[in-house]
Formats: sequence, structure tokens, C-alpha cells
Amino acid sequence: MIPFLDLKAINHQYQQALKEAAARVIDSGWYILGEEVAQFENEFAAYCGTEYCIGVANGLDALTLILRAWIEQGQLTEGDEVIVPANTYIASILAITENRLKPVLVEPDPETFNLDPTLIERHINEKTRAILTVHLYGQITVIDTIMSIARKHNLKVIEDCAQAHGACYQGKKAGNIGDAAGFSFYPGKNLGALGDAGAITTSDPQLAETLRALRNYGSLEKYKNIHQGVNSRLDEMQAALLRVKLRYLDMETEVRRSIAEYYSQNIANPVVQSPIAQVRESHVWHLYVIRTELRDRLAAYLQKQGIQTVIHYPIPPHKQAAYIDLNSMKLPISEKLHNEVLSLPMSPVLSASDIDRVVDAVNVFQ
Ligand SMILES: *Cc1c(COP(=O)(O)O)cnc(C)c1O
Repeated sequence: MIPFLDLKAINHQYQQALKEAAARVIDSGWYILGEEVAQFENEFAAYCGTEYCIGVANGLDALTLILRAWIEQGQLTEGDEVIVPANTYIASILAITENRLKPVLVEPDPETFNLDPTLIERHINEKTRAILTVHLYGQITVIDTIMSIARKHNLKVIEDCAQAHGACYQGKKAGNIGDAAGFSFYPGKNLGALGDAGAITTSDPQLAETLRALRNYGSLEKYKNIHQGVNSRLDEMQAALLRVKLRYLDMETEVRRSIAEYYSQNIANPVVQSPIAQVRESHVWHLYVIRTELRDRLAAYLQKQGIQTVIHYPIPPHKQAAYIDLNSMKLPISEKLHNEVLSLPMSPVLSASDIDRVVDAVNVFQ
């Protein structure tokens, strides 16, 4: 079986360094908000090119806390609207509704799967306060149009970078383009911890300070609470492990890019549409997502050939039981994508023969 993603093999590459990092934390006797988190925050901010990085417990909290911080600062208030792509992982929407803000779902560009910038302005009204853009599947959103719309209408821009660690747009990294960005280090992400972990990047000093307090009970100084905060801290163990893996992120991204290029050059089946990268740097290939009207049959066929695939995602957010109010919305582009997308095996540890087997199996399918 060619697994969709073999986390054990990915982490095995660095097992010596990971075990040393874990031992360092065990021996330190300090497990929450210590030297490892501080160092990881510095290193990840430097990697993204931002002034600040704030480690948090997971990617959903990263996004949720950014909006929450603006509410605490009086820049956003309950009922305000946030523009968000209609085809995204549910976490992007949950971050908005958890703050009692209103998600305004906008259709994607089916070529890139990302928010279609030409559709944004018609959704802006006097309640619109922010755009939450998602760099889906690892491809950075065409962001300059979004930034100029945001500046014109005085909107905040949040980047959901959970799938796009290291993606670049005109020399700038994901996480260093909007006002703030949320990252996930869930084990299966391109930069994956060995448990739950996340971070926020920003170059806004006030926002960074509010976020540092919010993640730690609303406190910057022990037992002095300036906000009704939460407990959402990145722990020392995950930070130490992430510091090891951050060193290899760019190398792994290059492997992902060559696999994606190989797939794109060699998959030639008229019923299958391959994904495209605008430029090489724009995509870090968290997922290699093909489209076909015969999606369910192709997935079953590949499974029989010993190739595991995954659908990202089978049900769009507006059709989820959790969002009954949104169920009657008509978003035909998103709905069509959800019916047609299929993610092929993609990871930095796929062997050349595995990749060839995937290509051959997709090509003979009819
Ligand atoms: C994974 C993911 C998240 C959430 O990250 P967690 O660490 O699992 O909370 C948010 N947005 C997108 C697009 C994701 O893929």
C-alpha cells in the first residue's frame, strides 16, 4: 500500500535530533513557556520575515485569537462581517463564528482553489471588517489585489497559513503579508509537530502583546489579568521538536515541488485535471489535488491498486450540520470542487517508484 502520508517515515528521518531535543526538554525541568518556545518564536518569525511570532496550542486557536485580540482592542465587535473563502477547512469558519462574528462566504477561483479576488468587493458593506484568506493546499493566494481592496475599505487581512508554511509571493513569505497570520503545526502539516501546536505571526507590536496575554489567561505578568484570556500555549516539548523540523522545512518543500512537477508532467489522462502553481515559489504542495468528474470511481480504483487517496474536503462548510443557517446558500463553484477534488499521495518521503506507480495507475484509469 502506498500511504497517503507516512508520518512515521517523515519523523524517522530526524529521529536522532528529535530525541535529543526531547531529552533536553525532559532534563530542563521547565515545560511551559520557557526557552524552547521563546527560541522557536524567534526562529519562526525570522523564517517568515515578521517581527513577532506567538506560539499557541493549535492552528484553530491561532486564527480565533487573532480575531479575539481585535475585539479586545475595540477594532471589531460582535456581528461584524469577515470575508472568507467558501471552500476551506472548517477551522477557518469556526475561528470567525467562535468570536460571534459573521462569516461571509465567497466563491474560489477554480484554477487556484483560493478566494477569487474579483468577487470580494461585491460582498463588502458597512459591517465588513476583515478578510480571512486561506492559502489552500499550499498555494499562496494572489494577495496584492486582496491587500489593495483591504486598504481601500479599511479592512484587516488575516492569512490562514495552516497549509502554506514557506510559500512565497513576490519574495514575501506566507504569514508576512496580511496584518496577522495563523499557522498550524498539526502533525500532517508541512511543518508538523508531534502533537498539536500552532503559532501567530505579525509585525504589529500592540497585536503581538494582546495575543501574548490572551494565550496565557489574559496575563503578561503572573496573577495580573488584563483580559479574560484562554489557556492556549505552545508547550516546550513541541517547540523543541519544531525547532529541529524547521531546519529541514525548505529542503522538504523542494522535494514536494519536484514530486508535484513530476506528477504534473507525467499524469496524462483526459478525465483528470492537474493542479497548477502560479510560480514555483508560490506553492509548497501541502496537497496535490487533482479534479475529475469521476472522482469517487477513481478513488475506489486507486484504492484497489494499493494507492491511498484523501478528499479535501468531502462536504463544504456551508453544507455542514454545524452551520444550518448557511445550508441554503448556493455556492456552485465550491460545491462542484467538493465533488471533484482528490488528493494524491504527497510527502517528502515518497519513493521514485511509488510516484511512478501513482502516475501509471492514474493514467490507465478510464
Ligand atoms: C489544519 C488547518 C487548520 C487548523 O489547524 P489545527 O492545528 O488542526 O487546529 C486551519 N485551517 C486550515 C486551512 C487547516 O488546514
